[in-house]
Amino acid sequence: MQLSDLIKKLKSYEKRPNISLVKKAYSFAEKAHQGQTRATGEAYIEHPLNVACILADLQMDDTTIAAALLHDVVEDTSYTLKDITNEFGKEIAALVEGMTKIKTLKNLSKEDYHAETIRKVILASVKDIRVIIIKLADRLHNMRTIGAFREEKRKRIAKDALEVYAPIAHKLGIASIKWQLEDLSFEQIEPEIYKELQEKINQTQRGREKEIEKIKKTLTEELKTTKIPIDISGRPKHIYSIWKKMQKKQKSFEEIYDLAALRVITDNIRHCYEILGIIHNLWTPIPKEFDDYIATPKSNMYQSLHTVVIGPAKKPVEVQIRTQEMHDIAEQGIAAHWKYKGIHGEEEFDQKLKWMMELNELQKDSEDAKEFLKMLHIDFFEDEIFAFTPKGKVIELPKGAVVLDFAYAVHSDLGDKCIAAKINGLFVPLRAIVNNGDRVEIITAKTQHPSRDWLKIVKTSKAAAKIKQYVRGAQQLPVKRFKREEEERKELEEWIIEADTMSKPKILLSKCCKPLPGEKIMGYGKTIGKVTVHKSNCPALKKNIVKENKRINVHWIDNIGRIVNLKVEALNRTGLFAEILNTLIAINTTMKSAHAKPLGSNIVECSFGIETSGLAHLQDVIKRVKKIQGVRNVFIGNVSLK
Ligand code: MN
Repeated sequence: MQLSDLIKKLKSYEKRPNISLVKKAYSFAEKAHQGQTRATGEAYIEHPLNVACILADLQMDDTTIAAALLHDVVEDTSYTLKDITNEFGKEIAALVEGMTKIKTLKNLSKEDYHAETIRKVILASVKDIRVIIIKLADRLHNMRTIGAFREEKRKRIAKDALEVYAPIAHKLGIASIKWQLEDLSFEQIEPEIYKELQEKINQTQRGREKEIEKIKKTLTEELKTTKIPIDISGRPKHIYSIWKKMQKKQKSFEEIYDLAALRVITDNIRHCYEILGIIHNLWTPIPKEFDDYIATPKSNMYQSLHTVVIGPAKKPVEVQIRTQEMHDIAEQGIAAHWKYKGIHGEEEFDQKLKWMMELNELQKDSEDAKEFLKMLHIDFFEDEIFAFTPKGKVIELPKGAVVLDFAYAVHSDLGDKCIAAKINGLFVPLRAIVNNGDRVEIITAKTQHPSRDWLKIVKTSKAAAKIKQYVRGAQQLPVKRFKREEEERKELEEWIIEADTMSKPKILLSKCCKPLPGEKIMGYGKTIGKVTVHKSNCPALKKNIVKENKRINVHWIDNIGRIVNLKVEALNRTGLFAEILNTLIAINTTMKSAHAKPLGSNIVECSFGIETSGLAHLQDVIKRVKKIQGVRNVFIGNVSLK
């Protein structure tokens, strides 16, 4: 590799590249690293030069190329950041600083030190995303030249590349770096499996190529009459991704890989769909294997149509259809995005990088760097699913994410106030897992607030960061006392109890024996116009009636259609509200309102306006709700029934 190769690459895509800047950076780095050699034995400058070339393949700008040439100067030579600033200005210095590892802190374990280093890179990348792209290129070149180290060190570096940097490359949509990092790491971590798979791929290569040739011929023939430009190629599959699929699906190599994969590139979106139609017409598509990532791009900007058809050899063939622009974005991710859309001021683009901001927020909140790394791992590694808001907005989540993650993904306020949700029309608790294609409607309560327990259920870093933010804030506030509000006090009792008197007295349910709807009751009238209703066997009632003889006959009425205010006092726990809702719905209760409010640190009051379809129904409601775990009291209106 020569400097002239790098300059040639740069000139091929930059209209007016600053060649003198690149040359100056090269000379500076060469001088600074003078006398240093890499473990491979070559002069040190080979490393930054190669890193710069990887970035030139991604068509990065000249500033990035210069910074890449200088990226190890501060860390590995006697030159300081100030020297870089003086020579190359602040922009390049900031990129180099982001690439420079933290000084070893005495009290940090190797693991913590490693986590802190990644944290620093993420932090610097929030300010300038190019830092992480240089870091990825740096890692890639290190992986390519890893052979010089002893086994233990090779394995450690490989694990790091596989678990941290490959997922970051994926998130940024830079597939070309992602799969290289994965395969190079996998070769180190599982050398035998790697070799075996590689041999198997080579053995079956011929068969697949033949199949692709056949399809190519048929398709080209078919498209001759149309004016659709088309470029068909066999799609290389990567060893690590095959192995991962084998693990995940518990299938053999033959079952996973014994199928051809091809890619069709055309000039515009309309043609993508037309080609899809033609392919589906020629070969039978396998149902459920079609994915439209053009209409619903992945968060890393990936767009393509995916389908699987039964090919000429009567075996499944995977087909991807996309435009050239989509292809470049798939391979180079964020870097290609700049090429097509420019680096600045695009809202859509900012949206795509939102995860990095969220990550930054998370790292502020993480108690230690290791925890941060764990969350990073989940966010980056898991498969993605797509769910929808009631308005049809697509929300993307890692597989296994729950309702609460969904709520936070839509908006942090929605997460903070979330008490339950409806998935595809059914009530579910906060911890319910959201699946691909679900329609999720979040149910909120004004009085809801996040709790520490929520951290145990959420899966995404965004949700975790927001909950922590709240919990931390709440701890600093004085303990709030929740006062039970006086209701606008409806005489609910009168809706369900009637007294056999000429006048219409105010009816009160007694607090001593707390009669339940349907139980035998007797009224006691001490004051004119007021009747207190007791269970007929209540000792207090017997005593009073004997003494004062103010007995009034009362009875429950089947007041169908009346709205009764059902209140449930319970120990708060995740999913409680949804469980009550589901209980009510299970016995066909029509609900007019549903609310929940905290009565203290762990007590919650849920109230439901329910339409009674008779006394038996109301009894049934009360009986079932009382059985729910954690329920301490059931009231109708303000009268306790438990
Ligand atoms: Mn380096």
